Amino acid sequence: MELLLGKTLEQLQEVALSVGLQKFAGKQLAEWLYVRRVKSFDEMTNISLKGRDALKARYTIGRHQPVREAVSVDGTRKYLFAVGEKFVESVYIPEDDRATLCVSTQIGCKMGCRFCMTGTLGFHGQLTAADILNQIFEIDQLAIADNRLPLSNVVFMGEGEPMDNLDNVLRALEIMTASYGCAWSPKRITVSTVGIPAMKRFLDESECHLAVSLHNAIPAERAQIMPAEKMFSITDVIALLKQYDWSHQRRVSFEYICWHKSSGSIPGNAVQGNDTIIHAKELLRLLRGLNCRVNLIRFHEGVEDIKSNRHFPGSDEQQMEWFRDYLTNNNLTTTIRRSRGEDILAACGMLVAQES
Ligand code: SF4
Repeated sequence: MELLLGKTLEQLQEVALSVGLQKFAGKQLAEWLYVRRVKSFDEMTNISLKGRDALKARYTIGRHQPVREAVSVDGTRKYLFAVGEKFVESVYIPEDDRATLCVSTQIGCKMGCRFCMTGTLGFHGQLTAADILNQIFEIDQLAIADNRLPLSNVVFMGEGEPMDNLDNVLRALEIMTASYGCAWSPKRITVSTVGIPAMKRFLDESECHLAVSLHNAIPAERAQIMPAEKMFSITDVIALLKQYDWSHQRRVSFEYICWHKSSGSIPGNAVQGNDTIIHAKELLRLLRGLNCRVNLIRFHEGVEDIKSNRHFPGSDEQQMEWFRDYLTNNNLTTTIRRSRGEDILAACGMLVAQES
């Protein structure tokens, strides 16, 4: 059976015509799916009984609840969703008067970033626009039902490289922001990337914010921890970004997980730190002339790259504050982000969806 969730207005109009309804029923379907977010055809009361039966015979809505929830001591919640026989995770992060959802866009990831647990698992499939929207709608509804903050922001920073699944990501973004859909401002949504050529299409076709996973401004060092650097260098990423206007509503930010040098647990596996004055200066040089901000991410105590037996020890507080102040004093807006949900493996780079 085909899913209705994830279809655009135009596609829903085609669905309506295909089951003998008028074209305008497509707009009604969009409202039931994306505004009222119903989970059954029986709730679509302004569609005739005959029309609903015809829809039921050929389509399903495509909504399904998470199969598991884990709650962190800091209030962060991690949800596990089944996708066929695989699983993906999403993370709900409440903070003061806002709640951000971090959604996954792929099952696993092809990019293989060495510091990321998702990256060590490899790629196991694309999520559809329905899979992406289902994470958002289910978790928003659970929050509202529990009297917790409804979602104010969504970040596409969970499992996967969003630009490597761009058709589905753009479709989900259209539905989230279109007036026939959820009518969210694109300013409430941030999409991340390690920087691959497909990001140009995202820049041209979406107005949502962009977050680039940078982590090291020296290309040769970045290539050691992020294989994507070899395909599309961070210098090319920045050159591309400089062709766009970031001085108004749309923002570009850079994620920078800080760690210090480690000797590696076996010879030859030393990890270059990225928190020294050389790195700070290179970062300033790379981003000069670009209207942007840098988010330094306090990483978990230490993450292992299972494949190469490398150990990434997080930078200490003092070093991160020095790094932030150095950049800020040189006119690069920089903040330190708290890592959230570490105790439930929900923090940045820790998502490894498994049923048990
Ligand atoms: S950091 Fe992002 S792009 Fe890199 S391996 Fe992890 S999920 Fe993929």
